[in-house]
Amino acid sequence: MRIAHWRKADARVGLVPTMGALHRGHIALVRFARTECDRVAASIFVNPKQFAPTEDLGSYPRREAADLEMLQSSGTDLVFIPTVDEMYPPGFATLVQVHGLTEGLCGAHRAGHFDGVTTVVAKLLIQTLPDIAYFGEKDYQQLMVVRRLVRDLDIPVHVAGIPTVRDGDGLALSSRNAYLSLGERRIAPNLAQVLRSVASALARHPGAVANELARGLRELRDAGFEVDYLEVREEDTLRPVTTYVGARSRVFGAVQLGKTRLIDNMPIG
Ligand code: AMP
Repeated sequence: MRIAHWRKADARVGLVPTMGALHRGHIALVRFARTECDRVAASIFVNPKQFAPTEDLGSYPRREAADLEMLQSSGTDLVFIPTVDEMYPPGFATLVQVHGLTEGLCGAHRAGHFDGVTTVVAKLLIQTLPDIAYFGEKDYQQLMVVRRLVRDLDIPVHVAGIPTVRDGDGLALSSRNAYLSLGERRIAPNLAQVLRSVASALARHPGAVANELARGLRELRDAGFEVDYLEVREEDTLRPVTTYVGARSRVFGAVQLGKTRLIDNMPIG
């Protein structure tokens, strides 16, 4: 395999795992990897195990030709596009499960989601054994879960977290933004705006968690979202913060807008 060859030649290898339908957020991970690594590989795999039966696996955007072009022009050396059968051949029977960190936030709303993520990420990391694997802070809980996975299973890979890339109006880039109608696209930036406003209020008034979350919830609903959750959590442990912001923390939100689920988070201070 090409990566093993690179490793033998002492090249530092970066891996950017994705589900395709790439945007500037994914490309930021590739560009960051380029600055730290001699070789950069990306994977594209829409992982069926991380979608619940009620979710959007069937309609998830797939744009392989455009993805390959974007990866090539941003300096990706190798693109790995396994099939579902290659990743999960008949008889596949293993589940990689991280406890604790996966139980709240998206874990509480997407049954089995993180088990699918950790199973596929463990496989991708073991298959490619990069020096550094790059993940976005946009999916902050996922980043923390992957860090835990790598530590617990002694997978010899460093996990790097990259800040969220946004559109000019603040909306975090996401492959799922492609589902938004024009009207919904105008509403969508309110998620980032509310999270930012709660985060900046809590930086000034760290004891106002309950009030600020109540205000944020009201504002999200008034904007037209159905709210899955709006919470403050400690950045390192994801422990819930319900009264006073002491340790470094973030505001996390997940909403439904029509058929589209959007998530985002903002650091406090
Ligand atoms: P996905 O294709 O949605 O599974 O995302 C692949 C990787 O890109 C994950 O590590 C995501 O956290 C990251 N990512 C997705 N959107 C963004 C964004 N707007 N900014 C930074 N990273 C992102």
